[in-house]
Amino acid sequence: MENPPKFYGFHTFAEPGCPITLTASFRDNIRHFLQECASTEASLIDGMPIWRTFLVYEAKSAVLPLYTVEENAEDSDRPFCDYCRCVGWSHHFVLKRKYHLIIPANDQWDDPIDERVFDLQTHLLHGLIHCNGFGHLICINGIEGGSKFICGRETMDLWDRICTSLSVRQITVEDLSKKHKMELWLLHGVAYGQSWFGIWRYWFCHGSFGVNEHNYRSAIDLLSSLELDRIIVDFSFVKACFDIKQMIQYYRDKSGSNLTYDYGPYEGSFVEESFV
Ligand SMILES: [Zn+2]
Ligand SMILES: [Zn+2]
Ligand SMILES: [Zn+2]
Repeated sequence: MENPPKFYGFHTFAEPGCPITLTASFRDNIRHFLQECASTEASLIDGMPIWRTFLVYEAKSAVLPLYTVEENAEDSDRPFCDYCRCVGWSHHFVLKRKYHLIIPANDQWDDPIDERVFDLQTHLLHGLIHCNGFGHLICINGIEGGSKFICGRETMDLWDRICTSLSVRQITVEDLSKKHKMELWLLHGVAYGQSWFGIWRYWFCHGSFGVNEHNYRSAIDLLSSLELDRIIVDFSFVKACFDIKQMIQYYRDKSGSNLTYDYGPYEGSFVEESFV
Protein backbone atom coordinates (compact mmCIF):
# COMPACT_ATOMS: atom_id res chain seq x y z
CA MET A 1 0.00 0.00 0.00
CA GLU A 2 1.22 3.42 -0.93
CA ASN A 3 -0.52 5.18 1.91
CA PRO A 4 -1.65 4.08 5.36
CA PRO A 5 -5.18 2.70 5.89
CA LYS A 6 -7.82 5.29 6.76
CA PHE A 7 -10.47 4.61 9.41
CA TYR A 8 -13.69 6.58 9.93
CA GLY A 9 -16.91 6.13 11.86
CA PHE A 10 -19.64 4.49 9.78
CA HIS A 11 -22.32 6.84 11.09
CA THR A 12 -20.41 10.10 10.76
CA PHE A 13 -18.32 9.50 7.66
CA ALA A 14 -18.96 12.18 5.01
CA GLU A 15 -20.88 14.45 7.32
CA PRO A 16 -20.04 18.09 6.48
CA GLY A 17 -16.31 18.58 7.04
CA CYS A 18 -15.84 15.01 8.23
CA PRO A 19 -13.12 14.33 7.37
CA ILE A 20 -12.76 16.89 4.56
CA THR A 21 -14.74 19.60 2.84
CA LEU A 22 -14.95 19.31 -0.91
CA THR A 23 -15.96 22.37 -2.88
CA ALA A 24 -15.30 21.54 -6.52
CA SER A 25 -17.24 19.46 -9.03
CA PHE A 26 -17.62 15.71 -8.65
CA ARG A 27 -14.82 15.09 -11.16
CA ASP A 28 -12.28 16.83 -8.90
CA ASN A 29 -13.93 15.99 -5.60
CA ILE A 30 -13.69 12.24 -6.14
CA ARG A 31 -9.96 12.48 -6.78
CA HIS A 32 -9.41 14.58 -3.71
CA PHE A 33 -11.62 12.22 -1.70
CA LEU A 34 -9.60 9.18 -2.77
CA GLN A 35 -6.35 10.93 -1.98
CA GLU A 36 -7.45 11.98 1.51
CA CYS A 37 -9.93 9.35 2.68
CA ALA A 38 -8.82 6.11 1.08
CA SER A 39 -5.72 4.04 0.60
CA THR A 40 -4.73 2.44 -2.66
CA GLU A 41 -4.81 -1.33 -2.87
CA ALA A 42 -1.83 -3.18 -4.24
CA SER A 43 -4.00 -5.24 -6.57
CA LEU A 44 -5.97 -4.13 -9.61
CA ILE A 45 -9.13 -5.49 -11.21
CA ASP A 46 -8.46 -5.90 -14.93
CA GLY A 47 -6.07 -2.99 -14.71
CA MET A 48 -8.49 -0.80 -12.75
CA PRO A 49 -7.19 0.83 -9.58
CA ILE A 50 -8.91 0.08 -6.25
CA TRP A 51 -9.05 2.18 -3.11
CA ARG A 52 -10.25 1.14 0.30
CA THR A 53 -11.71 3.19 3.14
CA PHE A 54 -12.32 1.48 6.47
CA LEU A 55 -15.54 2.25 8.26
CA VAL A 56 -15.85 1.48 11.94
CA TYR A 57 -19.23 0.26 13.17
CA GLU A 58 -18.76 0.77 16.86
CA ALA A 59 -21.79 -0.93 18.36
CA LYS A 60 -20.62 -4.22 16.82
CA SER A 61 -16.89 -3.55 17.08
CA ALA A 62 -16.75 -4.17 13.36
CA VAL A 63 -14.61 -2.65 10.65
CA LEU A 64 -15.91 -2.86 7.12
CA PRO A 65 -14.42 -1.89 3.79
CA LEU A 66 -15.81 0.71 1.43
CA TYR A 67 -14.14 0.11 -1.92
CA THR A 68 -13.86 2.58 -4.76
CA VAL A 69 -12.94 1.21 -8.17
CA GLU A 70 -12.12 3.53 -11.06
CA GLU A 71 -13.28 2.11 -14.36
CA ASN A 72 -11.91 3.60 -17.53
CA ALA A 73 -14.23 3.24 -20.52
CA GLU A 74 -11.26 2.78 -22.85
CA ASP A 75 -10.02 -0.30 -21.00
CA SER A 76 -13.40 -1.66 -20.09
CA ASP A 77 -15.29 -4.55 -21.70
CA ARG A 78 -18.42 -2.53 -20.96
CA PRO A 79 -17.84 0.98 -22.26
CA PHE A 80 -21.59 1.72 -22.39
CA CYS A 81 -23.72 2.19 -19.35
CA ASP A 82 -26.92 0.15 -19.33
CA TYR A 83 -28.29 2.13 -16.43
CA CYS A 84 -27.96 5.38 -18.37
CA ARG A 85 -29.52 3.87 -21.46
CA CYS A 86 -32.42 2.67 -19.35
CA VAL A 87 -33.22 6.14 -17.96
CA GLY A 88 -32.67 7.81 -21.31
CA TRP A 89 -29.36 9.46 -20.41
CA SER A 90 -27.81 8.43 -23.69
CA HIS A 91 -25.55 11.49 -23.69
CA HIS A 92 -23.82 10.32 -20.51
CA PHE A 93 -23.22 6.70 -21.16
CA VAL A 94 -19.96 6.94 -23.02
CA LEU A 95 -18.08 9.03 -20.50
CA LYS A 96 -14.49 8.19 -19.95
CA ARG A 97 -14.30 7.44 -16.25
CA LYS A 98 -16.72 6.03 -13.73
CA TYR A 99 -16.41 5.08 -10.10
CA HIS A 100 -17.93 2.11 -8.33
CA LEU A 101 -18.45 2.52 -4.60
CA ILE A 102 -18.98 -0.85 -2.98
CA ILE A 103 -19.50 -2.26 0.49
CA PRO A 104 -19.52 -6.05 0.03
CA ALA A 105 -21.74 -8.47 1.95
CA ASN A 106 -20.55 -9.25 5.49
CA ASP A 107 -18.89 -12.55 4.67
CA GLN A 108 -16.71 -10.86 2.04
CA TRP A 109 -15.32 -8.07 4.19
CA ASP A 110 -11.97 -9.81 4.59
CA ASP A 111 -11.61 -11.11 1.04
CA PRO A 112 -9.96 -9.18 -1.75
CA ILE A 113 -12.38 -8.09 -4.46
CA ASP A 114 -12.09 -9.27 -8.06
CA GLU A 115 -13.89 -8.67 -11.36
CA ARG A 116 -16.98 -10.53 -10.17
CA VAL A 117 -17.60 -7.62 -7.83
CA PHE A 118 -19.45 -5.63 -10.52
CA ASP A 119 -22.13 -8.23 -11.05
CA LEU A 120 -22.93 -9.34 -7.52
CA GLN A 121 -26.34 -8.34 -6.20
CA THR A 122 -25.44 -9.14 -2.61
CA HIS A 123 -23.44 -6.00 -1.76
CA LEU A 124 -24.68 -3.92 1.13
CA LEU A 125 -24.03 -0.99 -1.18
CA HIS A 126 -23.09 -0.64 -4.82
CA GLY A 127 -23.19 2.79 -6.39
CA LEU A 128 -21.80 3.82 -9.75
CA ILE A 129 -21.01 7.45 -10.50
CA HIS A 130 -19.83 8.81 -13.84
CA CYS A 131 -17.15 11.48 -13.79
CA ASN A 132 -19.74 14.15 -14.67
CA GLY A 133 -21.54 13.51 -11.38
CA PHE A 134 -24.49 11.53 -12.76
CA GLY A 135 -24.82 8.01 -11.46
CA HIS A 136 -26.82 5.05 -10.31
CA LEU A 137 -27.52 3.30 -7.06
CA ILE A 138 -27.21 -0.25 -8.32
CA CYS A 139 -27.99 -2.12 -5.15
CA ILE A 140 -28.55 -1.62 -1.50
CA ASN A 141 -29.17 -4.51 0.88
CA GLY A 142 -30.40 -4.24 4.42
CA ILE A 143 -31.21 -6.97 6.91
CA GLU A 144 -33.68 -8.72 4.60
CA GLY A 145 -31.11 -8.57 1.83
CA GLY A 146 -28.54 -10.49 3.86
CA SER A 147 -26.89 -7.75 5.91
CA LYS A 148 -25.97 -9.12 9.33
CA PHE A 149 -26.60 -5.97 11.38
CA ILE A 150 -26.47 -2.81 9.28
CA CYS A 151 -29.94 -1.90 8.13
CA GLY A 152 -30.80 -0.43 4.76
CA ARG A 153 -31.64 2.94 6.23
CA GLU A 154 -28.18 3.32 7.79
CA THR A 155 -26.50 2.42 4.51
CA MET A 156 -28.77 4.82 2.59
CA ASP A 157 -27.87 7.58 5.05
CA LEU A 158 -24.19 6.88 4.43
CA TRP A 159 -24.65 6.80 0.64
CA ASP A 160 -26.62 10.03 0.78
CA ARG A 161 -23.88 11.77 2.80
CA ILE A 162 -21.21 10.54 0.39
CA CYS A 163 -23.21 11.79 -2.63
CA THR A 164 -23.74 15.17 -1.02
CA SER A 165 -20.14 15.65 0.00
CA LEU A 166 -18.86 14.66 -3.45
CA SER A 167 -21.35 17.02 -5.17
CA VAL A 168 -23.04 14.25 -7.09
CA ARG A 169 -25.63 15.71 -9.47
CA GLN A 170 -28.24 13.03 -10.06
CA ILE A 171 -28.59 9.41 -9.08
CA THR A 172 -31.13 6.97 -10.42
CA VAL A 173 -32.32 3.91 -8.61
CA GLU A 174 -34.55 1.17 -9.86
CA ASP A 175 -36.86 0.81 -6.93
CA LEU A 176 -37.51 -2.88 -6.49
CA SER A 177 -37.58 -2.66 -2.73
CA LYS A 178 -39.63 -5.22 -0.90
CA LYS A 179 -40.57 -5.72 2.69
CA HIS A 180 -41.77 -9.16 3.73
CA LYS A 181 -42.43 -9.96 0.06
CA MET A 182 -44.62 -6.89 -0.45
CA GLU A 183 -43.73 -4.14 -2.91
CA LEU A 184 -42.28 -1.56 -0.56
CA TRP A 185 -42.06 1.12 -3.23
CA LEU A 186 -45.82 1.00 -3.51
CA LEU A 187 -46.64 0.25 0.09
CA HIS A 188 -44.45 3.06 1.36
CA GLY A 189 -46.05 5.40 -1.14
CA VAL A 190 -49.49 4.54 0.15
CA ALA A 191 -48.51 4.87 3.78
CA TYR A 192 -46.26 7.93 3.61
CA GLY A 193 -47.00 9.57 0.26
CA GLN A 194 -43.58 8.77 -1.14
CA SER A 195 -41.42 5.75 -1.85
CA TRP A 196 -38.85 4.59 0.68
CA PHE A 197 -36.13 6.27 -1.38
CA GLY A 198 -38.16 9.48 -1.18
CA ILE A 199 -36.80 9.86 2.37
CA TRP A 200 -33.50 10.76 0.66
CA ARG A 201 -35.18 13.08 -1.86
CA TYR A 202 -35.43 10.63 -4.73
CA TRP A 203 -38.49 11.27 -6.83
CA PHE A 204 -40.30 9.47 -9.59
CA CYS A 205 -38.42 9.54 -12.86
CA HIS A 206 -39.97 6.88 -15.01
CA GLY A 207 -41.70 3.56 -14.63
CA SER A 208 -41.67 0.59 -16.92
CA PHE A 209 -44.46 -0.52 -19.22
CA GLY A 210 -45.56 3.04 -19.82
CA VAL A 211 -46.32 3.85 -16.17
CA ASN A 212 -45.73 7.57 -15.90
CA GLU A 213 -45.62 9.82 -12.88
CA HIS A 214 -49.28 10.66 -13.25
CA ASN A 215 -50.29 6.95 -13.24
CA TYR A 216 -48.12 6.30 -10.24
CA ARG A 217 -49.49 9.29 -8.31
CA SER A 218 -53.08 8.46 -9.08
CA ALA A 219 -52.59 4.82 -8.11
CA ILE A 220 -51.05 5.89 -4.81
CA ASP A 221 -53.79 8.46 -4.23
CA LEU A 222 -56.53 5.99 -5.03
CA LEU A 223 -55.10 3.28 -2.81
CA SER A 224 -54.50 5.78 -0.01
CA SER A 225 -58.07 6.94 -0.14
CA LEU A 226 -59.70 3.53 0.22
CA GLU A 227 -61.36 3.19 3.56
CA LEU A 228 -61.02 -0.10 5.33
CA ASP A 229 -64.49 0.02 6.85
CA ARG A 230 -65.88 0.67 3.39
CA ILE A 231 -64.00 -2.36 2.06
CA ILE A 232 -65.43 -4.55 4.80
CA VAL A 233 -68.92 -3.40 3.87
CA ASP A 234 -68.31 -3.79 0.13
CA PHE A 235 -67.07 -7.31 0.58
CA SER A 236 -69.69 -8.37 3.09
CA PHE A 237 -71.63 -10.20 0.40
CA VAL A 238 -68.80 -12.25 -1.01
CA LYS A 239 -67.46 -15.57 0.14
CA ALA A 240 -64.09 -14.17 1.28
CA CYS A 241 -65.68 -11.55 3.49
CA PHE A 242 -64.70 -13.23 6.72
CA ASP A 243 -61.05 -13.53 5.64
CA ILE A 244 -60.89 -9.91 4.59
CA LYS A 245 -62.42 -8.75 7.83
CA GLN A 246 -59.97 -10.85 9.80
CA MET A 247 -57.02 -9.66 7.79
CA ILE A 248 -57.89 -6.02 8.34
CA GLN A 249 -58.47 -6.62 12.03
CA TYR A 250 -55.12 -8.37 12.28
CA TYR A 251 -53.21 -5.43 10.79
CA ARG A 252 -55.18 -2.94 12.86
CA ASP A 253 -54.23 -4.78 16.02
CA LYS A 254 -50.63 -5.03 14.90
CA SER A 255 -50.29 -1.40 13.96
CA GLY A 256 -51.92 -0.12 17.12
CA SER A 257 -53.71 2.51 15.05
CA ASN A 258 -57.05 2.27 13.32
CA LEU A 259 -55.46 2.19 9.84
CA THR A 260 -57.54 4.40 7.66
CA TYR A 261 -56.27 3.18 4.35
CA ASP A 262 -55.58 -0.06 2.67
CA TYR A 263 -53.33 -1.15 -0.16
CA GLY A 264 -54.57 -3.28 -2.94
CA PRO A 265 -53.22 -4.99 -6.01
CA TYR A 266 -51.74 -2.55 -8.50
CA GLU A 267 -50.50 -3.52 -11.92
CA GLY A 268 -47.46 -1.28 -11.74
CA SER A 269 -43.82 -1.87 -11.97
CA PHE A 270 -40.65 -0.39 -10.64
CA VAL A 271 -40.06 3.28 -10.29
CA GLU A 272 -36.84 4.88 -11.21
CA GLU A 273 -36.02 7.98 -9.32
CA SER A 274 -33.42 10.66 -9.22
CA PHE A 275 -31.41 12.50 -6.70
CA VAL A 276 -32.25 16.20 -6.43
ZN1 LIG B 1 -24.71 5.46 -16.30
ZN1 LIG C 1 -35.56 2.15 -16.93
ZN1 LIG D 1 -24.28 -4.61 -6.66
